[in-house]
Amino acid sequence: MQEAIRNAGRPLSPQEILEETQEEIPGLGLATVYRNVKAMVDSRWLKPVELPGSPDRYELAGQDHHHHFHCRHCDKVYDVEGCPGNLSSITPEGFVLESHEIVLYGSCPDCNTSE
Ligand SMILES: [Zn+2]
Ligand SMILES: [Zn+2]
Repeated sequence: MQEAIRNAGRPLSPQEILEETQEEIPGLGLATVYRNVKAMVDSRWLKPVELPGSPDRYELAGQDHHHHFHCRHCDKVYDVEGCPGNLSSITPEGFVLESHEIVLYGSCPDCNTSE
């Protein structure tokens, strides 16, 4: 299961982890995936990617600061390198900025092919 997550190169939902792992472990169920994911989050190998209005995805912990692109068509989530940064420029006076979440929405190259 770790292998599938590492190879994906993007955050996966438990359902996607199940699909990636099913061939390798026939008979694997979603409940087992959830249990394993929870254990991997507890041991800080994985971390949840929280997306508004969508189930959590999971990615390897300890990556550099980055953001995500959520494809509205296939519902896959991709990593976005880098960050626009400098959000303190829009932080109102008197407020202290501690963190931010940025999610990009649109369609991914797979969904983008004009046929
Ligand atoms: Zn897509
Ligand atoms: Zn950022």
